[in-house]
Amino acid sequence: MADYTAPIRDMRFVYHELLDGDSLADIPSYEDFTPDVVDAVLEEAGKFTSEILQPLNLSGDSEGCTLENGVVRTPKGFKEAYDQFAQGGWTGLSADPEFGGQGAPAALHFLIQEMICSTNMAFGMYPGLTEGAYNAINLHGNDEQKALYLPKFVEGTWSGTMCLTEPHSGTDLGLIRTKAIPQDDGSYKVTGTKIFISAGEHDLTENIVHLVLARMPDAPAGTKGISLFVVPKFIPKEDATVGPRNGVACGSLEHKMGIKASATCVMNFDDATGWLVGQPHKGMRAMFTMMNAARLGVGIQGLGLGEAAYQGALTYAKDRLQGRALKGAESPDKPADSILVHPDVRKNLLTMKSLTEGMRALAIWTGISLDQAEKSDDPAAKQRADDLVQVLTPIVKSFGTDSGFLTANLGVQIFGGHGYIHEHGMEQFVRDARITQLYEGTNGIQALDLVGRKMGMHYGRYLRAFFHPVQGFIEANADDADLQPIVLGLAKAFGRLQQATGVLAQKGLSNPNEAAAGAMDYLNLFGYVAIAFMWAKSAKIAFEKKDDESGFYVGKLKTARFYYERVLPETSSLFAKIMAGGDSIMDMEEELFGASVAA
Ligand SMILES: Cc1cc2nc3c(=O)[nH]c(=O)nc-3n(C[C@H](O)[C@H](O)[C@H](O)COP(=O)(O)OP(=O)(O)OC[C@H]3O[C@@H](n4cnc5c(N)ncnc54)[C@H](O)[C@@H]3O)c2cc1C
Repeated sequence: MADYTAPIRDMRFVYHELLDGDSLADIPSYEDFTPDVVDAVLEEAGKFTSEILQPLNLSGDSEGCTLENGVVRTPKGFKEAYDQFAQGGWTGLSADPEFGGQGAPAALHFLIQEMICSTNMAFGMYPGLTEGAYNAINLHGNDEQKALYLPKFVEGTWSGTMCLTEPHSGTDLGLIRTKAIPQDDGSYKVTGTKIFISAGEHDLTENIVHLVLARMPDAPAGTKGISLFVVPKFIPKEDATVGPRNGVACGSLEHKMGIKASATCVMNFDDATGWLVGQPHKGMRAMFTMMNAARLGVGIQGLGLGEAAYQGALTYAKDRLQGRALKGAESPDKPADSILVHPDVRKNLLTMKSLTEGMRALAIWTGISLDQAEKSDDPAAKQRADDLVQVLTPIVKSFGTDSGFLTANLGVQIFGGHGYIHEHGMEQFVRDARITQLYEGTNGIQALDLVGRKMGMHYGRYLRAFFHPVQGFIEANADDADLQPIVLGLAKAFGRLQQATGVLAQKGLSNPNEAAAGAMDYLNLFGYVAIAFMWAKSAKIAFEKKDDESGFYVGKLKTARFYYERVLPETSSLFAKIMAGGDSIMDMEEELFGASVAA
């Protein structure tokens, strides 16, 4: 099984040097999170995740969860690890101090989430879903609901779920059928079946609080008639201890490709008592406000798995002896050279490294912007930050998870046949990464969000929150001789992105299929440019500090060069595909898709 060491050096670079993470401590809500405190939290989390969570990753995958008489058991060691996690205060890291949390910035929280996902993504699902429920109630619940549930989530004694999906209703939530019938006492009776519910039932906490989308009897059809309800497994008593069992139970567990230690449940609600959260028929809106945070969290899952796969592959590439370097043996005293001498292996490793470190920077830029958007007292800065979060969220989710999957897959390639064997842990990263491209809105849906909603919003204001800093960087560094190849490369790729934006926006006006057909390519083009921007900024700092003896900055410069020469050219083919338009996609008659198999 691959070992893991939290990449704290790079995390500190991103937070303290590359981005203005330290300036968050100037915002009163984050004043405790000085650089020293941030570093101490990273160190502690690095220890906890590598010592407690990582040893349970492979065994959790092998054992999976079990359901017996309605009771779901998580794999051996999970309950003990969860208790330690909660006692260590990790369940309340970024929660509001008013409810017992530590109020950490999202940017720091993202780095901790990355470590959790690198070491045990399935474990991370349990607190991750609770954070989703926390956000939903915090943003939309009434004072009574907040006072009852939020401290329990923060201390980790109760956990949460998000119950949206039904058998016939996945992406299209307007189709949901779960019913909520009002009762005289102000509560509702909720009845229906939800599928694929992560952490729907388990043995880690004394209560499980379901956030459920359902329809009231008078609800309009479609998404405008959906309301959000809180439905606890055990109905809380007045003193906030658990009371009688509610009418909700796990019908079965899904048998799935990865994250096997995360219980994915069919949940049956049978006249279960629930309470409305927020306004009637405004459940989708409530869900969407917290979904942005959840989407960023899924992007971080991809990042975490990418980092874990990179570390595993690097260790293996150094140790594995096969063949000789083409220009002559590098370790003549050994039976063969390490596979790290082979260009193909090096290219795979550098692809993994450049995408992972670039994604970390992009995710933390988004995290810092999220913190500024929520807590800054400068209205203009708040607005700018929020605009950037809006546009980067689908990119972090989709590009981050596609990169995570690609990176995990390259990790298997570097292991050769051994990568396909369970005990090395590399194939698990691939299986675990695959779901990140699907849930919280498939990546195809993220692309539609970017092109169909974010692109045109406020006459392109969201886009400008990204375009302006990139343009500013190019102009400010146009004469920097050291940075020339990078600035030129960035300018070229950025030019493609600007042109593609104009073309898609224009075509979309007359034919929405044109915009939709190019959406995924556009999102990926955007992703490559965004990572290129992160590498350009990194390279600028690295040039200034390249004499540092650790080699860290020289490593950054060389990785930046690789990214610009060997990864960023992907933008050329994406641009060509976008320019080709959607005709060849939409022109095919339905029956012709099957023409090759028709008798
Ligand atoms: C392990 C796991 C955990 C999950 N956890 C949860 C959870 O905790 N809570 C919860 O509520 N759900 C959960 N889900 C459900 C998950 O969010 C859905 O599977 C996902 O939203 C996609 O819905 P679907 O599977 O029904 O696919 P569909 O909606 O049937 O989509 C099928 C395909 O069609 C495409 N498609 C659909 N509509 C459009 C469109 N309008 N435009 C373009 N393309 C489209 C999709 O991109 C996809 O490729 C989980 C799923 C899994 C597998």
